[in-house]
Amino acid sequence: MLSLSDVSVNYGVIQAVRGVSLNVEEGEIVALLGPNGAGKTSLVSSVVGIVPVSGGRVTFKGEDITRVPVEGIVARGLTLTPEGRRVFAGLSVAENLRLGAATRKDPVATERDLNTYLDMFPILKERYHQTASTLSGGEQQMLAIARALMSAPTMLMLDEPSLGLAPRIVDRIFELMLEMKKSGLTMLVVEQNASEALAFSDRAYVLASGSVVYEGAAKDLAASDQLMEAYLGTG
Ligand code: ATP
Repeated sequence: MLSLSDVSVNYGVIQAVRGVSLNVEEGEIVALLGPNGAGKTSLVSSVVGIVPVSGGRVTFKGEDITRVPVEGIVARGLTLTPEGRRVFAGLSVAENLRLGAATRKDPVATERDLNTYLDMFPILKERYHQTASTLSGGEQQMLAIARALMSAPTMLMLDEPSLGLAPRIVDRIFELMLEMKKSGLTMLVVEQNASEALAFSDRAYVLASGSVVYEGAAKDLAASDQLMEAYLGTG
């Protein structure tokens, strides 16, 4: 579904991503792991056109999207939930969710999806008319994910969905990801929380200093203390 071939991202002279090739097949959850500064955020940001790709090629459903602007990528069904739960703090939960659907032209299906996600995230129904800034960190993360889902993606990339959240909320977010997978969504998830992410992922890539240093089945990586220690510093 998503294919990156030899993708690089540069910020001036800094090479954040160096020739990464990666695939995500339809229906998979793929984990993108690696230490701080490895280039994970730069990579997913470049895929959706938030930062420019300096070299290489990105295809989505067989179409070259390397230079397509972000709105065009969202309209094709690929959405990113950025790091740090970027919700519109001054707007209500309802307004945030409607903005997620801004590129859609199917009001009936949009309304149906809104109801589906309010059932999936009941806390958002409860807080529907509240300003997003009054939500807790976990609630804002759920709003960020639900807002991304409102764009009706076929594939969702999540950048550090568990960052800064209490363990109970993290478990809930990971459970929700499995529910989304059951409903047919394909996902690429950037996570610091490697062992937890591997527990619900099909495959994993590990980035270090902008390059892929490991790729394989999530269960193989999780089962090997040696690999976990070598690539992620946790055995
Ligand atoms: P983290 O988990 O800390 O977000 P990461 O793996 O997502 O790390 P990136 O945020 O992509 O890594 O950063 C990769 C490299 O690019 C780092 O050296 C970082 O300092 C640099 N970098 C990231 N964004 C910019 C920017 N806007 N301008 C210049 N350098 C940047």
